[in-house]
Amino acid sequence: MITTDICIIGAGPVGLFAVFEAGLLKMRCHLIDVLPQVGGQLSEIYPHKPIYDIPGYPTIRAQELIENQMKQIEPFKPTFTLGERVDGLEKQEDGSYIVISSEGTKIYCQVVVIAGGLGCFEPRKPEIVNLAKYERKGIDYMVKNPESYRDKKIVIAGGGDSALDWTIYLTDIAKEITLIHRSDSFRGAPDSADKVYELAQKGRINLLLSHNLADVHGAENLSHVIATNKLKEEVKMEADYFIPLFGLTPKLGPIAEWGLNIDKNAIEVNTMDYSTNVERIYAIGDINTYAGKLKLILCGYHEAALMAQSAFKYVYPDQKLSFKYTTVNGINTF
Ligand SMILES: Cc1cc2nc3c(=O)[nH]c(=O)nc-3n(C[C@H](O)[C@H](O)[C@H](O)COP(=O)(O)OP(=O)(O)OC[C@H]3O[C@@H](n4cnc5c(N)ncnc54)[C@H](O)[C@@H]3O)c2cc1C
Repeated sequence: MITTDICIIGAGPVGLFAVFEAGLLKMRCHLIDVLPQVGGQLSEIYPHKPIYDIPGYPTIRAQELIENQMKQIEPFKPTFTLGERVDGLEKQEDGSYIVISSEGTKIYCQVVVIAGGLGCFEPRKPEIVNLAKYERKGIDYMVKNPESYRDKKIVIAGGGDSALDWTIYLTDIAKEITLIHRSDSFRGAPDSADKVYELAQKGRINLLLSHNLADVHGAENLSHVIATNKLKEEVKMEADYFIPLFGLTPKLGPIAEWGLNIDKNAIEVNTMDYSTNVERIYAIGDINTYAGKLKLILCGYHEAALMAQSAFKYVYPDQKLSFKYTTVNGINTF
């Protein structure tokens, strides 16, 4: 079992900043996120977009902001569980909690901070009858460990940034890659699209534009992906893995069953400290709601600071909290 002071559900910008604010008060954090990487919406939806309303940065790329935040929290040695969804919560007799993930990972903590953004991102799946039969048997909706595709035959589907970026990345790893897209142009970054066209021209990938997914076949495991062209002619591709990358849709998921006051998919909080109606559980960032709420990164940062000041009493019940500026106290690593 992992033991920590604060378990933060969601490693988006607000969850990451909560590590910093908690660290200043000598509280250790463990973060858990269903996505295989940190950064929340910024890394998953718009990594290359410039953001203009982060104080002190006239402009900063979303992924760069996340990288800076990771650097900023390094002194506080946060630990991470990535690629696992938080499902369960068990209250202990002394008021502490055990947070339980979809894979059975258990995190013992004094305080739970929900920084779950829009909720759990769940993959949009193509409408193929046999799809569910091969999930985890050759069909993956996210790339968690690129090495698992080494020397394999891969079929990727999609036309956004994820499909383009992973096609480019996996070209050097996989034995054979086919990218299928239903349109004849890509939605993803033009630079990435150009690289994909170049790889196709050099014969390093197979590119099937204007093709629709039709079916998947196999025995115990997936063995073939079938697509059709505009003339409804079938193309059958051998595939060890099929990775449809059609984006993610957010869902609040099991957190909705924890007895928290919820209003339209968001958790109601007290704006004094962003606590919920359940003791020792806080909600910060896009996941919470209150009068005047703005879903902005900088508002989430503010909420993280107030949450940490309030959570201190549960982690150090015998100590008095004294407020200090970082300019006075500096950053004291653990
Ligand atoms: C295209 C776009 C542009 C934007 N531009 C701006 C901008 O210019 N300025 C600005 O301030 N804001 C902008 N935003 C909004 C900003 O991205 C959000 O306010 C911010 O991401 C909220 O951060 P967060 O940490 O609360 O949540 P998120 O970034 O959503 O991160 C939450 C994380 O929690 C995880 N999670 C949720 N539930 C679970 C669970 N049960 N188990 C495990 N993990 C879970 C999710 O996987 C996710 O990684 C933009 C948003 C979009 C989509």
